[in-house]
Amino acid sequence: MRLTSVVVDKISKTCNDQYMKLPKTGKPVDNEWTVLSCVVKYDRNSTNIEVVSLGTGSKCVGATKMSPRGDILNDSHAEVIARRGFLLYLYHEIEKSIGHKQSLFNQEDSKFKLKDGIEFIFYSSQLPCGDASIIPKDGEEDQFGDVLESLKRQADTEICDSEPKVSKIKDIHRTGAKCLPGAKQDQRECGVNYHQVCQVRTKPGRGDRTLSVSCSDKLARWVHVGIQGALLNMFLDKPIYISSFIFGAGVPYSEETLERALVKRNVIDYQLDSNRPDFYQSSVKYPHIRSEERIRPAAGSIVWINSNNVISEVAVHGRKLGVTKKKLNSLSSALSISKFKLFHKFQHVMAKFEHKNVILQDKDAENITYGEMKKMSVEYLKKWYDVRDKFFKIWTVKPDMWNFTIKNDS
Ligand SMILES: [Zn+2]
Repeated sequence: MRLTSVVVDKISKTCNDQYMKLPKTGKPVDNEWTVLSCVVKYDRNSTNIEVVSLGTGSKCVGATKMSPRGDILNDSHAEVIARRGFLLYLYHEIEKSIGHKQSLFNQEDSKFKLKDGIEFIFYSSQLPCGDASIIPKDGEEDQFGDVLESLKRQADTEICDSEPKVSKIKDIHRTGAKCLPGAKQDQRECGVNYHQVCQVRTKPGRGDRTLSVSCSDKLARWVHVGIQGALLNMFLDKPIYISSFIFGAGVPYSEETLERALVKRNVIDYQLDSNRPDFYQSSVKYPHIRSEERIRPAAGSIVWINSNNVISEVAVHGRKLGVTKKKLNSLSSALSISKFKLFHKFQHVMAKFEHKNVILQDKDAENITYGEMKKMSVEYLKKWYDVRDKFFKIWTVKPDMWNFTIKNDS
């Protein structure tokens, strides 16, 4: 059942109110803009709305800065931060369930089952970077786009403006996210022919190219295999799908484009079972969107998680803000949502789980690396490879470098 516009606005307002309540650190200043994303728990029975995780940001570290210890967050786009915060929130809820406390889950044998009527909604102040941001323009000035390099884009537009326009749709909003090497590339012609649609792209970044795929690609993956990822999948009776995606006002929006980028890509005979999400644009505008006054992306990211003890951090360059040089290489500077800390949490929860042997098959948990543990999520991987081959054809190849265990703690 689709949400009413009143509920859509109420959810967006709750997300924006939560953001406004947070301290100034990490928020854009003066002429800066950013993106806000949240995961919202929505109870269909009581209609209760609760923001469970929140993230801001539009930065991504380059390939050479990645850390094999999993202590640096590669991708600090708001969508990714909100999702990783949500994972931590889910671990806390599973922990409560193990301790027989009131929680989101019921434990049934060796799996955790989400209680009836609970849904998760994804809010974002603008459409995700990558394919979903390639939207037909309806005549308005393009001041949004995603995290593109604005000067370069201006130059492109100037050249294109002198060309005759034949199509009914004169132009499209563009994305700074680049197609993967070896795949079809953007034609970079004028107007609507600038981009190649339906392509997996890597996140925009100056100089050192990133290996992280665009948010459109990540969101599409969550739509098809769930937002929980490989590790949590081993605890749950079934994947957790986002029921609705809500986007803010005052930015380009197209439901058709979202359908293409997040659901279908160029698969004509696609089948999506019960997990097909609904898309909405609310009438609530996030105050720090890109505008004529706000032209520079904010450097920091806010990480906020609504669990037993609220977690609130600010990230810069993939680490906690304010880390002294001495502590730069210490794991204490890692964010709660870094690979290392999330894996630590996974291991901590599993240690308490009486059915852990279903997952571990007599292996010693402490000696299993992050990469090996993910490979043990056989069901998830089977589904993911299937979806990857069908919908995306190729996916970025990050080196299999995260071979850390939690024993590396220092
Ligand atoms: Zn993004």
